[in-house]
Amino acid sequence: SYGPAPESSAEAQAWLATHPAGFGHFIDGTFTAPEALFESRNPATGAVLARVSQGSPASVDAAVAAARRAQPKWARLAPHKRAQYLYALARLVQKHARLLAVLESLDNGKPIRESRDIDLPLVARHFYYHAGLAQLAPAEQPGMEPLGVCGAIIPWNFPLLMLAWKVAPALAAGNTVVLKPAEYTPLTALLFAEISREAGLPKGVLNIVTGDGDTGAALVDHPGVDKIAFTGSTSVGKSIRRATAGSGKALTLELGGKSPYIVFDDADLDSAVEGLVDAIWFNGGQVCCAGSRLLVQEGVAERFHTKLKRRMDGLRIGDPLDKCIDVGAVVDPVQLATITRLVDASEGEKYTAATPMPSGCFYPPTLIIGLSAASPLMQEEIFGPVLVSMTFRTPAEAVELANNTRYGLAATVWTENVNLALDIAPKLRAGVVWINGTNMFDAAAGFGGVRESGFGREGGWEGLLAYLRPAGKPAALKPVRA
Ligand code: NAD
Repeated sequence: SYGPAPESSAEAQAWLATHPAGFGHFIDGTFTAPEALFESRNPATGAVLARVSQGSPASVDAAVAAARRAQPKWARLAPHKRAQYLYALARLVQKHARLLAVLESLDNGKPIRESRDIDLPLVARHFYYHAGLAQLAPAEQPGMEPLGVCGAIIPWNFPLLMLAWKVAPALAAGNTVVLKPAEYTPLTALLFAEISREAGLPKGVLNIVTGDGDTGAALVDHPGVDKIAFTGSTSVGKSIRRATAGSGKALTLELGGKSPYIVFDDADLDSAVEGLVDAIWFNGGQVCCAGSRLLVQEGVAERFHTKLKRRMDGLRIGDPLDKCIDVGAVVDPVQLATITRLVDASEGEKYTAATPMPSGCFYPPTLIIGLSAASPLMQEEIFGPVLVSMTFRTPAEAVELANNTRYGLAATVWTENVNLALDIAPKLRAGVVWINGTNMFDAAAGFGGVRESGFGREGGWEGLLAYLRPAGKPAALKPVRA
C-alpha cells in the first residue's frame, strides 16, 4: 500500500450486511423480495460484496406500473415542491457522501480519491442544479409538459453519476423513472433508493430494477415507457434505436468514443502531460470521453513521449481505497480480458509503466506508438488504461486525423496559440472540445456526442428539454378547401 491507511470499508460492509438475503428491486417505495440472485464483486479482491436480483419482465412491469401511477400527481406538484425533493436528495447525497464514495470504489474499483473528490461532488451538484431548473422551467419553457415514465439504462463506469445525470432532470421535469443500473455496479443505486426514501420522495417516483441486458431490453420494449435514456456502448445503443423505432418513445443515446488529444509543438508540454494523465488514466481509462488517442506534432513527439513515459512510471496502481492511488482496478475480469486481447493483438511499439503492479484485476498504464491511422486500436474504444499515439505535421493533418473515427464525443487541443485553438476547435467533430484542459464537466453544460457517440445532451437546459414536450394534443388540421 502507498498511503498512510486505506479508507475504511467498515461502514459500507455494515450497510451491505443489512440485506443478508440479497437485494430485491426498489419498486413503489419498497424493496421487493429478492429474485434470481447474482453476485456483485469487488474487482480489486474478487470478494463477493452483495447478491442482487436479476430483474424479470414481471419486475420491470411492476416498476413501470408504479411509475405510471405516481406520475400524474408528481407532475401536478408545484414546481417549488419538486425542487424541495431534489434539494433534499442533494443534501442527503452530501450527508452520505463518504459511504457512497467507499461503496462506489468497492463495487467499481475506481480510486477513492476520484469517487470522493469527483464523482460525489458532481452528483450532489447535479441534483442542486436541477432543483433550480425545476422551479425555473414553467416560466422559461412555457407550454411544455413532462413525457411521462422514463426508462434509464446506465453503464458501470460512473454508476452514481450516470444515475444523477438521468434521474435529476427527469424528476425536475415532472417525469417518474424506472432505472436499470449496470450489472457490475448496482450497489450505489440501491443505496440511493434508500436515500430517496429518507428524502421522503413519494413512492413510485423513482423505481430501480437491477439485472443485466435482458432486464434492460425488457424496459426498452415495455409499452408503458415514454422515453429511454441510455448511456453505454455504441453497439447496444444501436440495438435500442432499432428496438424503439416506430414505437413513439423518445430516445437519447450517450455512447462510446475514441477522443483525440492534440498536442501542438508550441504547447506547454509539462501541463499537456498532466492533462493527458487525467484524460486517459482517470478511472483507468474507463471513461466514454477518455482522451485515448494522442496526436502529437512531429517536432516535439520524441520529447513529449519521453516526458510522458517518465510520468507514467510514477503512477501508483493498487487498492482503490488507498487515498494515494492513481489507477485502481479494472471493473471485471471480462473487461480485463478484452483489454489484454486488444493490446496483445496490436502492432506498434508498446511501453508499459514501470510501476509496481498488484496481482488480480489490474492493467498497467500502457502507451502504444507507431500505429497506422486505420489500425483497430486507433479506431476502436479500448475502455482501459491504454493510450495510442500518432504524429502529425500540420494543423490540417491534425484535424483530419482527429476526425478519422466513427465517434465524436470529445476532443482536447493543447497549444499556447489561442488563434490556432479557436481555428481548430470548430473543425473537430465532437460534442465537446476542451482547450488546454480536459474532463471539465458541469451540470449547467450540456454533454453528449455526435455521429456514433450518440445524440441528445445531458446537463443544462438542453438536457432538461430532452425530458419535456410541447403540451397538449396538436390542434386538428382543418381541411383545405379548393
Ligand atoms: P453496455 O452497453 O454493455 O451496457 C450499458 C447498460 O446497458 C448496462 O446497464 C447493460 O446491462 C445494459 N444493456 C446491455 N444490453 C442491453 C440491451 N440489449 N437492451 C437494453 N439494455 C442493455 O456498456 P458498458 O460496458 O456498461 O459501458 C461502457 C460503454 O458506455 C462504453 O462504450 C462507454 O463509452 C459508454 N459510456 C458513454 C458515456 C457517454 O456519456 N457518452 C458515459 C459513460 C459510458
